[in-house]
Amino acid sequence: MKARTVVIIEDNEQNLYLMRFLLEKNGYVVKEARDGQQGLALAKQINPDLILLDIQLPDLDGYAVARRLREQEGQRETPIIVVTSYAMVGDREKALAAGATGYIEKPINPDIFVEQLRAHVPAAGEETP
Ligand code: MN
Repeated sequence: MKARTVVIIEDNEQNLYLMRFLLEKNGYVVKEARDGQQGLALAKQINPDLILLDIQLPDLDGYAVARRLREQEGQRETPIIVVTSYAMVGDREKALAAGATGYIEKPINPDIFVEQLRAHVPAAGEETP
């Protein structure tokens, strides 16, 4: 059985901690990047099953990261879920236009976070024989 690997690209330590905790509790293997360039390199290196992407990052914004991920050989089809506190009208569309698969709003709700991911990525995190 292969554990599902998730790359989280997020610069906020509390959000990183919470997402890592919830994902590991559900059997995911988690790798972290704290800025866009690091995230692009990490994704290229390990080809994760899922990418969680913050929009407000220290270098590139999440939209630019999503666009560049889609240009990387291994990340053309990888589910990318944008996780952001941006709630402005149009941001969801902007994220999807940049190549994101889905969108989860902060603050993260620990009770439903993994279910939200599974809604965007069917079977993600479920053990398969
Ligand atoms: Mn941020």
